[in-house]
Amino acid sequence: MRNWGRTLTFTPAEYRLPRHEEDILRALEQAAQKKQLVRVVGAGHSWTPLIETPGLLLSLDRLQGLVSVRPGENLVTLWAGTRLYQALPRLWKQGFSLANQGDIDRQSIAGAFSTGTHGTGKTLGILATQAVHYRFLDGEGRIHDVYPDTDPALFQALQVSLGLMGVITQVSLQVEPRYYLRLTKRLERLDEVLERSEAYLNGYRHFEFFWFPYSEWAAVKLMEKSETPGHVPVWRRWLIDAAWENGAFWALNKIAQFWPSRSEALCRFAGQNMTTEVRVDRAYRLFASPRWVRFREMEYSLPAEAGPTVLREIRSWIAKHRPAVSFPIEYRYVKGDTIPLSPAYGGDRVFIAVHAYHRMPYKEYFAGIEEIFQAYEGRPHWGKMHTATPAYLHRVYPQLGEFLALAERYDPRGLFRTPYLKALLWGEGVRLPA
Ligand SMILES: Cc1cc2nc3c(=O)[nH]c(=O)nc-3n(C[C@H](O)[C@H](O)[C@H](O)COP(=O)(O)OP(=O)(O)OC[C@H]3O[C@@H](n4cnc5c(N)ncnc54)[C@H](O)[C@@H]3O)c2cc1C
Repeated sequence: MRNWGRTLTFTPAEYRLPRHEEDILRALEQAAQKKQLVRVVGAGHSWTPLIETPGLLLSLDRLQGLVSVRPGENLVTLWAGTRLYQALPRLWKQGFSLANQGDIDRQSIAGAFSTGTHGTGKTLGILATQAVHYRFLDGEGRIHDVYPDTDPALFQALQVSLGLMGVITQVSLQVEPRYYLRLTKRLERLDEVLERSEAYLNGYRHFEFFWFPYSEWAAVKLMEKSETPGHVPVWRRWLIDAAWENGAFWALNKIAQFWPSRSEALCRFAGQNMTTEVRVDRAYRLFASPRWVRFREMEYSLPAEAGPTVLREIRSWIAKHRPAVSFPIEYRYVKGDTIPLSPAYGGDRVFIAVHAYHRMPYKEYFAGIEEIFQAYEGRPHWGKMHTATPAYLHRVYPQLGEFLALAERYDPRGLFRTPYLKALLWGEGVRLPA
């Protein structure tokens, strides 16, 4: 088994693709008898070893698709293994869009939600805030249907659970009537973007930007709902997405890999030549972009008001240490929530992500930036690379202790507690590298 980012390779003792909940039940019982630890894999798009197990790996790839739709209430229920890219066009046909999405749509619904995956927007929370019901099998094989009003603590624990409560089989979502988005992408000077960020956040439903280190330019992405429908022909989407954003960018990274000393100039070149455009299209087509150039990523959420200061500090760190980097830094904004393991717990957050081409050195670069993130009490994205210690995580996730107690209650035999998670959260055993 290998993850998308190539940061994890392992061979589980068993790999199963259950077709029904009864199959999962049986698999869990057999694993308990054999004293095997169990993990569920979604699309394997996390960089951290969350899916790693020496025992049983369950994939819900046969539990995919729509379970039910309640049009009057804008409610849809999906099997947990459904990939977003499969569900979104089908939901569109039924008249629905998700309120928000991340940068890609390759994840499974349960996998994306379980790690606190997010998009951007001042009024929009992490994706799991769209959930209104979970169905799951706990570590004893008991089936639960959980709603926010029937058991709020358990519901919130399930919203970002890292797979520690059990196997989620269904997720119900509050969706929106389908809508079009108008995307404006343009280049602006980084200092000007940071100064205008408050105005952009208030003026647009979605605001984010990508800044290439060593360049003074940032590619600003602004999106708002469009009353008039639009459609970008497939060939044009391919031209922009495939030819420039992936093809030319891949070539640039290859040059940086073989001539790291050129990466500063390459970054400046990329920063000045990022695509600028305006397009209107179905919401799900504009949220997600294809990512064919493989990379590593670390992302922390920060108190919203600290966002611009942290980014300026990162720029100073890069100017001083001059790492060979050929990927941009991404800046997003997420509405706060009360979900214990959400990186947006307790208030609005800015999310800053650093990336490195997967064939280039990254450790010193990530370590230098992580020190800045942690100085501002940043919270790591659970699915992205980080080296946070259990003590640090307990400090920045003040409800982590309660969450772990709940996880132990629903999984008393510890079926889902793998060495990585025990080291990361309980501080037991050797801390495995992220
Ligand atoms: C190219 C790329 C772009 C990305 N863009 C974004 C982005 O824009 N925003 C963002 O926030 N993140 C982003 N991510 C991170 C990604 O969204 C998360 O890592 C997400 O968890 C991956 O979903 P997955 O289906 O691959 O889950 P996996 O990585 O397979 O699993 C993640 C966790 O979910 C658990 N899990 C999966 N299914 C179940 C289930 N049925 N029941 C219980 N537990 C389950 C697993 O055990 C594991 O703990 C990106 C990742 C990549 C590689």
